[in-house]
Amino acid sequence: MNNNLSRRLFEEAQKVIPGGVNSPVRSFRGVGGEPPFIMRGRGSRVWDADNNEYVDYLASWGPLVLGHAHPSVVLAVQESASRGTSFGAPTPGEVELARLVCAALPSVELVRLVNSGTEACMSAIRMARAFTGRSKVVKFVGCYHGHSDGLLVKAGSGAATLSVPDSAGVPAAYAGETLLADFNDMDSVREQFAAHRGDIAAVIVEPVAGNMGVVPPGEGFLQGLRDITSEHGALLIFDEVITGFRVAHGGAQGLYGVTPDLTTLGKIIGGGMPIGAYGGRSDVMQQVAPLGPAYQAGTLSGNPVAVAAGIATLKSLELPGVYERLEETAVELTAGLQAAADAHEVPVTVNRVGSLFSMFFNPGPVDGWEAVTRSDAAAYARFFHSMLEQGVYFAPSAFEAAFVSTVHTPEDLELTLAAADAAMEKAAAG
Ligand SMILES: *Cc1c(COP(=O)(O)O)cnc(C)c1O
Repeated sequence: MNNNLSRRLFEEAQKVIPGGVNSPVRSFRGVGGEPPFIMRGRGSRVWDADNNEYVDYLASWGPLVLGHAHPSVVLAVQESASRGTSFGAPTPGEVELARLVCAALPSVELVRLVNSGTEACMSAIRMARAFTGRSKVVKFVGCYHGHSDGLLVKAGSGAATLSVPDSAGVPAAYAGETLLADFNDMDSVREQFAAHRGDIAAVIVEPVAGNMGVVPPGEGFLQGLRDITSEHGALLIFDEVITGFRVAHGGAQGLYGVTPDLTTLGKIIGGGMPIGAYGGRSDVMQQVAPLGPAYQAGTLSGNPVAVAAGIATLKSLELPGVYERLEETAVELTAGLQAAADAHEVPVTVNRVGSLFSMFFNPGPVDGWEAVTRSDAAAYARFFHSMLEQGVYFAPSAFEAAFVSTVHTPEDLELTLAAADAAMEKAAAG
């Protein structure tokens, strides 16, 4: 596989951009080697600077549930941009996108648009603190809620891949406001509530963990969080930046039937443009300025072009049978990947919720952070590079999710599974 142009671009990039990338996990440090520079995408495929073609399961890390350059999204972006790209004043699209979100997620009565998932989570926590008058927040080891100071504690894949479990530059006093618990372990949550009675403003959780690889919630875990937060007057925040409009139209809260107080969104709701949102109970969201005393703002928030891409995406997802088809494709794909692993006697555990899945190189079960870390990252790296060379693009880290889109075809799956057979042989040969 020729990668001369990508190599040269990466060299140039490193002269002017830290590590040559604008988000760390793009650097391939977790798997070794150098990232291809992507020139274009269409449907399920992307092409790099050397014109190598890949079947893409990265999906820009989740947003592209309709695949690349979906005609209705492209048209919406073009039409919106031609009318002007930003006004710093209200625009009708913001109302439409907010309505679509509120309609899909009944727990969301009021919603504020921001520019990223990071901003959404940071702001949701500010509202929870404003509403409760308390300062501490419980998060789960291995869950990622963006890179804001207080949430960058034991924050999953990106940090784990680079072996920096906690970021430098975060004041200890501030990180001390963040309490840690273990995903799928209610006892660890009870301990924090017992030790910090009356001080906990919120519990924030990825209802399906997606940033330590995919780990579904165990039976009763989310309801347990609902019960303990209610009992202690703390708020429950579901970070649905990945799962919103992905695992079901109603998100993980619809799928598992547990109602959070606040929800954060991003990724899919921007259709590949920068966006985030936080929303929830009306009484909590009334803390937000200009209604209430908690300030949160943004020059480009609710950007009309991003909003147009989001509306086009959410409308396509309302068509009948979309989520059923997404799931069918993912079931077939993951069954094939598991079979390829089994055929070469590579211990692999596939976790899947809807069209969101991970392959852990690990005999399993993989039900939390501790189990995740027992995975064989070197075997994943061998698998990953073999797949990439054969034209299949998975995430460049053993601790990430893979994403099926509405435009993955039977031919894509066939190509992927043929490649997986050879890649598992490589993985086994470590
Ligand atoms: C991606 C992600 C974020 C951060 O969103 P950005 O848009 O990258 O800032 C927050 N929470 C979860 C669960 C995510 O997957």
